[in-house]
Amino acid sequence: MKLRCDCGNVISDSTDNLPYKCNLLPDDGYWDNIHQPIVQGVLDFATAIQKGTKEEWLTKYFGEGYPRDLDDASVISDLVGTQLSRGPTAYQCAECGMILIPSTTKNGYAGFAPVDDDWHDVLAWRKQTR
Ligand SMILES: [Zn+2]
Repeated sequence: MKLRCDCGNVISDSTDNLPYKCNLLPDDGYWDNIHQPIVQGVLDFATAIQKGTKEEWLTKYFGEGYPRDLDDASVISDLVGTQLSRGPTAYQCAECGMILIPSTTKNGYAGFAPVDDDWHDVLAWRKQTR
């Protein structure tokens, strides 16, 4: 996926671990739409393994086309990844620092320009200092 910033720079999303991309987890609805479905899905998966109904669980959560030869950790990883990607994805332009977030009122992105020059890597992963 590619999108063009107003400054003309093309932002590319074609690989993992991009320091200028961030999946947003809105606090509004986070518990009901992201956190709780992960907890419930993992619990349901554990119960399905225990009861021998893993096949039905895989169909319910991922459909008929989902691979059946994955180990349990990979299935849980897919479950968590699916839920975490339900929020909007933000991108930061590496040229001008503009943060682009999908618009809620029209097609395309809403742009948020930095107020000063201290904008580099604001969407990159940071180690906690405490
Ligand atoms: Zn830009």
